[in-house]
Amino acid sequence: MARRPGTLGSVLFRQQKWKSSVSTQAKMPPCDFVPEKYKSYPYERMQKIREQNIVPSLRMYYKKPLLLHQGHMQWLFDYEGRRYLDLFAGIVTVSVGHCHPKVTMATQKQLARLWHTTNIYMHPSIHEYAEKLTSLFPDPLKVVYLTNSGSEANDLAMFMARLHTRNFDIISLRGAYHGGSPYTLGLTSLGSYKHGVANGFGCTTICAKLLLNGLKQNLPCNEKKPSFSKTGDISTMLPDVFRGPWGGSRCRDSPVQTVRKCSCPEGVCHAKDQYIEQFKDTLNTSVPKTVAGFIAEPIQGVNGAVQYPRNFLKEAYRLIRERGGICIADEVQTGFGRTGSHFWGFQTHDVVPDMVTLAKGIGNGFPMAAVVTTKEIADSLAKNLHFNTFGGSPLACVVGAAVLDAIEEGGLQKNSEDVGTYMLLELAKIRDEFEIVGDVRGKGLMIGVEMVTDKDSRCPLPAEEVGQIWEDCKDMGVLIGRGGLYNQTLRIKPPMCITKKDVDFAVEVFRTALQRHMERAAAK
Ligand code: PMP
Repeated sequence: MARRPGTLGSVLFRQQKWKSSVSTQAKMPPCDFVPEKYKSYPYERMQKIREQNIVPSLRMYYKKPLLLHQGHMQWLFDYEGRRYLDLFAGIVTVSVGHCHPKVTMATQKQLARLWHTTNIYMHPSIHEYAEKLTSLFPDPLKVVYLTNSGSEANDLAMFMARLHTRNFDIISLRGAYHGGSPYTLGLTSLGSYKHGVANGFGCTTICAKLLLNGLKQNLPCNEKKPSFSKTGDISTMLPDVFRGPWGGSRCRDSPVQTVRKCSCPEGVCHAKDQYIEQFKDTLNTSVPKTVAGFIAEPIQGVNGAVQYPRNFLKEAYRLIRERGGICIADEVQTGFGRTGSHFWGFQTHDVVPDMVTLAKGIGNGFPMAAVVTTKEIADSLAKNLHFNTFGGSPLACVVGAAVLDAIEEGGLQKNSEDVGTYMLLELAKIRDEFEIVGDVRGKGLMIGVEMVTDKDSRCPLPAEEVGQIWEDCKDMGVLIGRGGLYNQTLRIKPPMCITKKDVDFAVEVFRTALQRHMERAAAK
């Protein structure tokens, strides 16, 4: 049979080491927590309700979606009492562990004391929390606005950036996810989240059009010195050192580098320089001379833990600041010690943003989020009223403070570094064993495993094939996330309390799933 380079057939041809027997299943580490008996509706009734009463846009994972009813630290239990190792943490949200006793106890106490006041009154927990949270940031990032979701935090960050700079354009990286609200969808640069309706500009586009037509006096907003562009949100090339046009074997800040070759002399990174040229190109072609800002995650989350070359963000920040813009770090996934070496992802890039947005892990699953910025930038919002009913509620602030305590007392940042590095290195061995595991990357417990047809072509492994491997992992008790433009990347971002024994189990399960995949492919 003729084999095209890069196809699965050609890979199998080269990989004759595959034997036909798959190793026995890995053994799940013990857990002495006993879940309650499930007492709600049967599975089929839940499915019916889902079909009839819940919006269909909320898609579910797995061919037979899981019905989960209890959680304990890194473990989840389904309605039949089956236990799963949770390596996705409710999409990178359960930072310290499901129902972490410290957070649960603090929440229960506050539930009996006071839930809600709004911030038209003072209550102790917002003050205690604001001081505690901002103490974790370098100067001048000392002011916090508490919100309820990541999209809301990024909406607010954009709004403040525009108010502060009096400029309009905000630049994001392709592949980014910064939220699903109409405003933040303009920053989100993943086709699967686009709905074909105008987003990200709203009334201001009308302003811009009117401006272009010379109808300045009819502007629906009273901007005196407008500098709006037509577009509003601009995405620029993603500096992805594995999949992008440039990248080598030393570019990224990770214990595991790409399989690509590198010819750069020590201390030089051509990939970074090339991506910065692209960034400059966007600045020179797509936006006015001044911009409102630039937003980026320290490691891209939804796109599959994509890491930029070292010093890319540093140079990008400099270029944005030269054009009057402010730099926003979206720490919704990377914050709170997940990257291990640092508490905030931006610290791993040696930059200090002007604004940082937080969500997900901030509340360990409780709906809360935040924008942390400078007093000067925050003042721009104070010129008029801005209000949020639930943001910074007594309950949310108590949860947030308990999460910070749990991270500190449990040494969870250090655990992320130790266990995350261990996992990355174990997964790198698997990458070297299997041709279809193209890249293993990340820092701490923010890990991506990109699946390919073969390492030479780096073509994405078809999503259905990745899906089968991923379903097999679930059937063996390990829950993993998916991501990437082609749904080709496995995302591993567990609660930060997992152990090396859990990693051994998960890696063994992954190996078994890969072996099964190779057998299926060989039998075709
Ligand atoms: N930013 C990033 C990096 C995210 O991953 C997400 C959610 N996936 C958001 C913002 C939006 O957060 P939320 O879903 O809480 O609105």
